[in-house]
Amino acid sequence: MPIHLLPESVVAKIAAGEVVERPASVVKELVENAIDAGAGSVGVEVEGGGRRLIRVSDDGCGIPAAEVELAFARHATSKLQSAEDLQHITSLGFRGEALASIAAVSQVTLTTRARDETAGAVIRVHGGRVVGRNPVGAPAGTIIAVENLFYNTPARLNFLKKETTERRHIDEMVTRYAMAYPSIRFVLTQDNREVFRANGGGRLDDVLVAALGVGDFKQMLPVDAPPRADRPDLPPVRVTGFVSAPALNRANRAHIWLFVNGRPIQDISLTHAVAQAYHTLLPKGRYPVAVLLIEMPPEMVDVNVHPAKAEVRFRNADAVFSALQRAVRSAVLDQAPVVSVTPGAFAGPQPWAEAGGPGPRRALPFTETQMPIGLPLAEPGRRTDPTADLPAPAESGARRRTLPMLRVIGQVGASYIVAEGPVGLYLIDQHAAHERILFEQFMAERAAKGAVAQQALEGVTVELSRGSAALVAENLDALASIGFGLEPFGGTTYLIRAVPDLLASQDPAEALRLIVADLEAGAKPGQATVEERMAARACKTAAIKAGQVLSLGEMQALIRHLEFCANPRTCPHGRPTMIHITAEQLAKEFGRE
Ligand code: ADP
Ligand code: MG
Repeated sequence: MPIHLLPESVVAKIAAGEVVERPASVVKELVENAIDAGAGSVGVEVEGGGRRLIRVSDDGCGIPAAEVELAFARHATSKLQSAEDLQHITSLGFRGEALASIAAVSQVTLTTRARDETAGAVIRVHGGRVVGRNPVGAPAGTIIAVENLFYNTPARLNFLKKETTERRHIDEMVTRYAMAYPSIRFVLTQDNREVFRANGGGRLDDVLVAALGVGDFKQMLPVDAPPRADRPDLPPVRVTGFVSAPALNRANRAHIWLFVNGRPIQDISLTHAVAQAYHTLLPKGRYPVAVLLIEMPPEMVDVNVHPAKAEVRFRNADAVFSALQRAVRSAVLDQAPVVSVTPGAFAGPQPWAEAGGPGPRRALPFTETQMPIGLPLAEPGRRTDPTADLPAPAESGARRRTLPMLRVIGQVGASYIVAEGPVGLYLIDQHAAHERILFEQFMAERAAKGAVAQQALEGVTVELSRGSAALVAENLDALASIGFGLEPFGGTTYLIRAVPDLLASQDPAEALRLIVADLEAGAKPGQATVEERMAARACKTAAIKAGQVLSLGEMQALIRHLEFCANPRTCPHGRPTMIHITAEQLAKEFGRE
C-alpha cells in the first residue's frame, strides 16, 4: 500500500479514541466545558449507563450562534490564543478536541444561547457530520445531549463494561468535579433517579457529606497547609481538603482523590505520598480516604501531557510530593497524635510469629478475679440484656454506653481480642483499649476529686540529664497534679516520694523518665494540656501490653469497661483501639452478595 493521508473521518475516530474512552469520559469533558463556561449549576442526566444518553445542562456563558459549528471543529477553542498560553493554563479545557471527538463517535444535539444574544441555536451532529441547524428560543447557557455513544465504532462498544460499571464511573466523575468546585450546584440523575446532588453552597464539607455519607465524613480530618514560609526557595504549594482518620480506611487507593488547580488528576507518585503519610498508622494493604486540593502557580504544572488531561507534570515534582505528604501527615498527627510505642510492646517479632510455639510466658500483673489495674470483674449492672445497664439520661455522672454489648470470642496473637457485636466482628487491640480505659478513669477521678490516688514511696532517687531535670523543675506542679510527689535532691537528682496509684506496680524512676521523654519530644500541634499528655503516657506505661495472654474473664472485664468509655475507638494517643468488620463486609468478602 502506498503512503497516503487518512481521510478526515478516520483521523477523527482515531483521535476520539484517546479522548473518549468510555461514557464517563464524555461526562468529564462536558462537565469541564460547563465549568469553564462559568456555570453556577450543572445538571447531568444519564440513561443506560451513558450509552443511550448523556445530557449535560449548564447556565454558563453559552456559545454565540455564529460559533456553534466551529465549536465542533477539531482544535477549535476559545480558551487558548498562542503557544505561550500553554505555559499557564487556568481553564480545564484548552485543546479544542472534546466536542469534535465526542461528536465523531455519537449523535450530538447542542442547544445554546449566549448571555448577550436574544436567540439561541440548536445544532445536530451525527458521527462528525452536521445534520441540522436551527435558531431556537432557549435560556442562556448550554444543553448538550450525546446519544448512542460509539454507535459507529463497534470495537469500542464491545469494550464497554456492564452498565452498572459505567454508571459507577460516571458517579465518580461527577462527584470529583463537585469536590473541586463546591460553589457549583451539581445534580446527577441516572435513569431518571437522582443519585447525587451538591448544593453549590461553597463548602467542601457539604459536598463530602453528600459524597461519602455523614458517617464516613465524621471521620475525615481537615487539611490546610499553606505554602511554607520558611522555604521561599520552594514553589508555593498550598494543600487543602480532608483526609480520613486512620480508623477510616479502604482496601485500595481509589478513594484518594487529588486535584491540581481545580483539575482532578491521576498521579501514582502523589497517591503514594498520601498513603505513605499514614505510615505505621494503617495496616499493610489499607489506604486512607482523601480529598486533596493542591494549588500552585499554573506555570509550575504542565497539563498538556495527554488528550484526556488527567495526567500532569510538575516542574518541581519533589516539592509537590513533600508538600502533600507534610500536609497529610501533620493533619493526621495533629488530630490523632501518635507516639512511638514502648520498645518491646509492639516492636520485634510478635510472639505468635516465633517458631517453636509460644514464647516464654510472662507472669500476669493481675489475676482473673482481682485486677489491680482497675478492672473489677464484677462490674455492677452487667446483665445479659444489652440495654439493661443503660443509665437513665438524667443520672448525673452516670456513664453512657458508647459501644454495643460485645461478646468476647477469644484472643489472637496474645495481642488482640476478637469479639462479636450485633453488627459484625470487632478486633480490639488490648493494649490500646486498656490505655483508653485507664486514661478515662484517671481523668475522671482527677476531675471529681481534684487529685489522683497516690502511692507513697520510701523515697526512690532518680538521676536525670540536665535537660530532663530542667523540664521536671518547670513542670513540678503538673507532675504533682497527676500524682508524682517529687523533691529536688541536689544537682539533677530527684527524690520520688509518691507515684500515681496507677503506676504502683511499675518502676517509678523508669515511669518518670518516660514521661519526661515525652515532654522533651514537645507537644505536637493540637495536642492536649501537658497534664493530659503526662496522664496519657502514665496510662500507656500501666496498660497491659501486647503479647500478654489474657483469660476470658480478663478480656470480658476489659471489653465491658471499654463499652462505657467516652471515646472507645482510639487510645489517648489517637491510635485506633479496634477494627470493626460489619456483617455486610464479611458477606462481601465471602462473595455472598
Ligand atoms: P476546549 O474545551 O478544549 O476549548 P471543546 O471541544 O471542549 O474544547 O469545546 C470547544 C469550544 O466550545 C470551547 O472552547 C468553548 O468555547 C465552547 N463550548 C463548549 N462547551 C461549552 C459550554 N457548555 N458553554 C459554553 N461554551 C462551550
Ligand atoms: Mg472542553
